[in-house]
Amino acid sequence: PLTPRSSSTSINHDTHETYECRVGREKTLQIALKKANEHVDAANIDDYMSQRACLVGDMGEVYRQHKRWKQNLPRVTPHYAVKCNPDPVVLRLLANLEAHFDCASMPEIETVLAHGVHPTKIIFAHPRKEISQARAAIKSGVLRMTTDSEQDLVNARDYFPEAEFLVRISTDDSGSKCQLGSKFGAGEPFDTPQKLLGMGKEWGLKFTGVSFHIGSNSSDPSAFIKAVANSRAIFNYAAELGYDFKVLDVGGGFTNDLFEEMADHLNRALAQYFPSPTVEIIGEPGRFYVGSAYVLAAQVTGTRDVKDPFERVVGCQYDINEGNYGLLASTISDHQEVIPQVLRKRDPTYAPTTYRVFGPTCDAWDNPVDSYNASDKISYGDWVYFEGMGAYTYPCATEFNGNPKAKAYHVSSEMEASARLGWA
Ligand code: PLP
Repeated sequence: PLTPRSSSTSINHDTHETYECRVGREKTLQIALKKANEHVDAANIDDYMSQRACLVGDMGEVYRQHKRWKQNLPRVTPHYAVKCNPDPVVLRLLANLEAHFDCASMPEIETVLAHGVHPTKIIFAHPRKEISQARAAIKSGVLRMTTDSEQDLVNARDYFPEAEFLVRISTDDSGSKCQLGSKFGAGEPFDTPQKLLGMGKEWGLKFTGVSFHIGSNSSDPSAFIKAVANSRAIFNYAAELGYDFKVLDVGGGFTNDLFEEMADHLNRALAQYFPSPTVEIIGEPGRFYVGSAYVLAAQVTGTRDVKDPFERVVGCQYDINEGNYGLLASTISDHQEVIPQVLRKRDPTYAPTTYRVFGPTCDAWDNPVDSYNASDKISYGDWVYFEGMGAYTYPCATEFNGNPKAKAYHVSSEMEASARLGWA
């Protein structure tokens, strides 16, 4: 049974609850839905703030993913990619689990430092950062950074020469849903890593290793093999120039479904190309840690039938109080495909109907689901939920049209996670 253990309220008015229950994904969904149902029960038509959508994160799931990483990739120190979901509860949990962090900006660095994380556990993994941010990072003790361009090195030479650079190389990211190669990575048609290392040598800059990212949400485990092999070539070239490379950063791109296979490919590549334990191997997982840990529930706030000229219903559409300008921004920026499910099942005999789903704003582009077959009737006032809503959702949400972000709750399906959070 699900037994609430404790409850407290944070400054964000987010409720934290921990439930004693067994390990497993079903339990994550079960406790998230239980919390969402409580939110629904408490919603009140005389209080519009209580009717908004809600996001439930299971910190037990985040804890399990961290353990899974440690078990499968013992050589690779995870640096959680804060950009993916900077939920302060996640950061607190991971900081208490001695995790390291990948920050993309100085504000992220400040947030992580405020959780008591030592600056040497942070990488500023933006290859082309603003000078003021790089200087502030160094002042705060964060020296490790990535770089991929001549201009960034010119900036470093003139304004932040203390930086310890990993050269970010380009990869084959064709197997990923969110490709990063058009913007990041040294290599044709941009400056090559070899050229950047040569400049660094000339200007006395410190290069300590290589970083890469195979693209986010990858379905190609073999991308790690190619990228690790290419990194080895850059390590060898750097040695010829007189550098002493010590760090390989294998980036993010890990997915829940393919994680073990990806880890296996990566481990084999590391054993082949980087057999020496003196090379520090780090990774920057984001999605893998938090994607599966969150469920979003939203209410149906409008319905319309689509009719043919003979008044026959040929389709249905409905609006919900969360959309592309809110947490479902991930359907655009992260190419996430979502299928709403009915929060409380009612009519199992219902014939599947095709629905189109719109978000709450006065913008027709706010259309997170174009067409799906619902196996339950959707009526005005119903609540629907979406699984897998932890990655690139909350931080990408806006308050366009004045709509507040979804209310966030935290639960824990693991007592160890609860203890680390100080809830138990
Ligand atoms: N590291 C860098 C530099 C990134 O740009 C990203 C995502 O864009 C990540 C790590 C996290 O990637 P993922 O969520 O695929 O693990």
